[in-house]
Amino acid sequence: MSHIFPRHTAVKPPVAARGDGAYIIDEAGKRYLDASGGAAVSCLGHSDAAVTEAIKAQLDKIAFAHTSFFTSEAAERLADKLIAHAPEGLDRVYLVSGGSEATEAALKLARQYHLERGEPQRAHFIARLQSYHGNTIGALSAGGNMWRREPFEPMLVKMSHIDPCYAYRGRQEGESVEDYGQRVANALEAEILRVGPEKVAAFIAEPVVGATLGAVPSVPGYFRRIREICDKYGVLLILDEVMCGMGRTGHLYACEADGIAPDILCIAKGLGAGYQPIGAMLCSKAIYEAIEQGSGFFQHGHTYIGHPAAAAAAGAVLSRLTDDGLVERCRTMGEKLDAALRDRFGQHPHIGDIRGRGLFRGLELVADRETKEPFDPALKINAKLKKEAFARGLICYPMGGTIDGRRGDHVLLAPPFIIEDAQ
Ligand code: PLP
Repeated sequence: MSHIFPRHTAVKPPVAARGDGAYIIDEAGKRYLDASGGAAVSCLGHSDAAVTEAIKAQLDKIAFAHTSFFTSEAAERLADKLIAHAPEGLDRVYLVSGGSEATEAALKLARQYHLERGEPQRAHFIARLQSYHGNTIGALSAGGNMWRREPFEPMLVKMSHIDPCYAYRGRQEGESVEDYGQRVANALEAEILRVGPEKVAAFIAEPVVGATLGAVPSVPGYFRRIREICDKYGVLLILDEVMCGMGRTGHLYACEADGIAPDILCIAKGLGAGYQPIGAMLCSKAIYEAIEQGSGFFQHGHTYIGHPAAAAAAGAVLSRLTDDGLVERCRTMGEKLDAALRDRFGQHPHIGDIRGRGLFRGLELVADRETKEPFDPALKINAKLKKEAFARGLICYPMGGTIDGRRGDHVLLAPPFIIEDAQ
């Protein structure tokens, strides 16, 4: 009898025995094409020698030294490299162990920034519906995925949620894409004014919405307007690139495509590429200086922040992405994947929308293409799809069910950047 506490108690998954490029191979020798990287984690596939060598080399030197006493060469190098490629203004890197830790830290850093500057009343956060920012209490409070929130609702922190930028469902008839983007962005200003600008600490959003919508980017101009509104009211902008960052959209940082820089940026998943658990929160010089010149201490931390072996892995991943042209490869392979999906499913009666950037693509399933009526949630099509695909040796990431009545079912594809045309 197994003593593992599995994700689904009724499911006994096969044992993953080894990895081979884009494939995971189970104990029985069955090969699965990993077309979702788990959940957009495995950007380098499953057998990258450069990353495993970097981890081994670090372990041969030292595995762990607590950050209240030491820094490490691996962490310092990683931070320098992340900032060298980062959007304008981001200056400091706080290393954590995963995505939820990164967003949780971002919320707390935003709060502390305002405290340090003598604005203790700024404690309210605004996020978006149909978003996911992680499973810890703060991150879950920010998330707008109702199914994930529901059981824990009494424990969550009160935050506001505005509509996401989701043109497929939100754009009104006759409205231009640009006007739609401005209208949904302006909802942030309305919410800031409703709450009281002096009380709002930050706005958090995913540049390309992953798990909850299925690779939905914003329309042009949306994030520029969001940036303007945040600046006007002294509200910090936190971008959650835990899923869409690290090259996944064909840009190292997803917000490059939107032409803006946040005050705080969260990454994880592709940062360790599955070789080590690691995430990071990047923040602006102004935020860092507020802490440095104020209390001098970010009142937050976990034992494994800045873990040297994880940092060494991420350093090697980042080199593969930036020095070996894998971000560009992600962009060109993404265009091929998009064309192939449109060719195969563009006219399919139950595919309403095909979207995404880079190797981050989503298909939205509908009952009717004309009415965009979501696929019948009672059928639990996402669970069936996942099971069927897995049985045939394909790992993809279907999600959905119309929990809040305003979204459909979708399938997310996020294959490794080393994927070949035939695969
Ligand atoms: N933020 C986003 C956008 C995510 O997609 C996820 C995970 O799917 C998280 C945060 C949480 O990351 P983790 O599962 O590493 O805690």
